[in-house]
Amino acid sequence: MSRFLSQRFAALEAYTPGEQPQDIQYVKLNTNESPFPPSPEVIAAVSAAQVAKLNLYPDPTCRVLKEKLAALCGLAPENVFISNGSDDILNFSFMAFCDESRPVAFPAISYGFYPVYADLYHLPYTAIPLRENFRLEPEDYCGLNRNVVIANPNAPTGRAISPTDVEKILASNPNHVVLIDEAYVDFGGESCRGLIPRYDNLLVCQTFSKSRSMAGGRLGFALGNADLIADLEKIKYSTNPYNINRLTLAAAEAAVDSNDYYVKNCLIIAENRAYTVAALSELGFETVPSVANFIFTRCGSIKGDDLYRRLKAKGVLVRHWNKPEISDYVRVTIGSREQMDIFLDRVRELLKEE
Ligand SMILES: *Cc1c(COP(=O)(O)O)cnc(C)c1O
Repeated sequence: MSRFLSQRFAALEAYTPGEQPQDIQYVKLNTNESPFPPSPEVIAAVSAAQVAKLNLYPDPTCRVLKEKLAALCGLAPENVFISNGSDDILNFSFMAFCDESRPVAFPAISYGFYPVYADLYHLPYTAIPLRENFRLEPEDYCGLNRNVVIANPNAPTGRAISPTDVEKILASNPNHVVLIDEAYVDFGGESCRGLIPRYDNLLVCQTFSKSRSMAGGRLGFALGNADLIADLEKIKYSTNPYNINRLTLAAAEAAVDSNDYYVKNCLIIAENRAYTVAALSELGFETVPSVANFIFTRCGSIKGDDLYRRLKAKGVLVRHWNKPEISDYVRVTIGSREQMDIFLDRVRELLKEE
C-alpha cells in the first residue's frame, strides 16, 4: 500500500481470481472456462477490417448487440444492458442500488466477489447460511427488506433454485432489487428472465464467459425493467461509456448469431458432467448435485487442499478454498471428455498412492 491510498480502501481485501498460469500447460479445470473455441462465425468476425477500425471509438450504445440479445431473450432492447464482463454489472449494481439505508444480502457460500463489492462501497451486508448439502432455501430470502443477490445456479456448489422460488423472493421484497446472477444458467438451469415483465425489481445478469467461450473477450449483459437498465446506463456513462471494445462487440454479435453452436456445446458439457460425477462416485467421491459447468466434490480419503496440490503437481488445475465450511471440497470445471479422462486418471493414481 502506498501512503497515498485513500483511507476508504485501506482495509479492503480484493477478490482473488483463480490461477491463470501463462507458462506450463495444465489441464485447466479451475476457472469454469469453456473447452470449446468460439464459433467459426465469431473467429471470422474479429477480422482485419475490424482491427483496421481500432482508431475509431466503438458504439457506446451497443445498439446492434442489444437488438440481437433482446430478440434472443424475448424482450425489448431497452431491457438489455451490455457490460465488460458480468463482473462489471455486479459492480455497477452494488454501486447503483445499495447504500447504508439499502443494505444487501447474499448466500454465505457463493461467488466470492459479492462481499468484495459490498466492502468496496462500505455497504452493510448479510451473508445468509445455506442449508443441508449447500441447499439454498428461498424462504431465507423472503421479506428481508434488503437488496438480494443470488447466483443461480450457485457457485461454487452448482445447485439451482427454480424460477417459482425466485418469484417468491421477488414478490416478498417488492421495494428492493433482486439480482439473479445467471452466469451458469445455460448448462442446465432455468432462467427467470420470463419474470421481468411482471417484476420491476428483478435484474438478471448473464455472461459470454462460460457458455459462449468468450472469457477472454469480456462481455456480460443484464436483463430487467427499462428503468433499472436506465439506472445502470447512468452509472456506465458516469464511469466509462466505451466499456465494450470494438472487437468484442463484433465477436459478441456473431456469437448471438451462432447460438445453436453454443447450445450444442452446453449439451456436451452436461453429458461430460454426468460422466464425471458417475466415475467419481465409483471412486468414493461425494459430489453436490450440479446443473452448472463445474462440480463441487469431496474425496473421503484425501483432504481438499491435498487433492488440489497433488492434482496440480500432476498437471491438473482445480479450485480449492480454505474457508472452513467448504475446505473438504474442490471445484472441478467440466471440460472436454479428453480433459475429464485425464483428470479421472490422475485421481485414480492419487488414490493408489494412498
Ligand atoms: C464467472 C462468474 C461471473 C463473472 O463473469 P465475467 O467473466 O465477469 O462475465 C459472475 N458471476 C459468477 C457467479 C461467476 O461465476
